[in-house]
Amino acid sequence: MSAADAVPNGACEPGHDVVPSGAPQSDDVILSGVREPGHDVILSGARSAESKDPVRSQPETSRPDGRTESFDSAPYGRFAQDDNSQAFNPANLRIGQGYDVHAFAEGRKLILGGVDIPHTRGLLGHSDADVLAHAVADALLGGIRGGDIGKLFPDTDPAYLNADSLKLLAAVADKVRAEGYAILDVDSVIAAQAPKLSPYRDEMRANLAAAMGVPAENVGVKATTTEHLGFEGREEGISATAVCLLVRRSSS
Ligand SMILES: [Zn+2]
Repeated sequence: MSAADAVPNGACEPGHDVVPSGAPQSDDVILSGVREPGHDVILSGARSAESKDPVRSQPETSRPDGRTESFDSAPYGRFAQDDNSQAFNPANLRIGQGYDVHAFAEGRKLILGGVDIPHTRGLLGHSDADVLAHAVADALLGGIRGGDIGKLFPDTDPAYLNADSLKLLAAVADKVRAEGYAILDVDSVIAAQAPKLSPYRDEMRANLAAAMGVPAENVGVKATTTEHLGFEGREEGISATAVCLLVRRSSS
């Protein structure tokens, strides 16, 4: 079967994916509708209390597929509703990025995402040296322009000696909320040549999510080797990066 067989009547409109008109709607279709003129009204009014669904009051011709219900399931609407804010405002979004590195050392546990992972060596640090939890915490702090965990939890403070980094992450998440933000989504990557981390990924996601008070589905953890390149590849240490998306709860 050739690609042309998938196109109804052999027609393919410019700029449209090869999708039969009766096919289930994809995110692409939804997004393309959002980008239409007047999208600000659609976004800000998605769950607005005072503007009783302006989306539905618009003629169906405002969308190429004639459907309107997909806006109701938009994720930004859900969060706006959960937060009891008047409306979702894209200007309230913040992103944050975190990066951390710890060196391997003998006689240390390897703790990643709160999981005690069997390995010949662990990571060196004042706390439990959970490089993943630290990267996520720094991402959150980046999102609120709140510095980094080194500033928040100094490694000169004996209170944080061998500290459980999930507790530090929970404290950071509390700080994020205290500053008026909600944590929408987090993704992360661990770079380690060894050990193999994929068996622990879901447990790490669950631990990080619980610490931050968000659903596990909103926390991503990936692991990669560096093909024996760099300090990770030489198994001198492990690095982790994380990004997060926050939204300011305030509707002002
Ligand atoms: Zn660290």
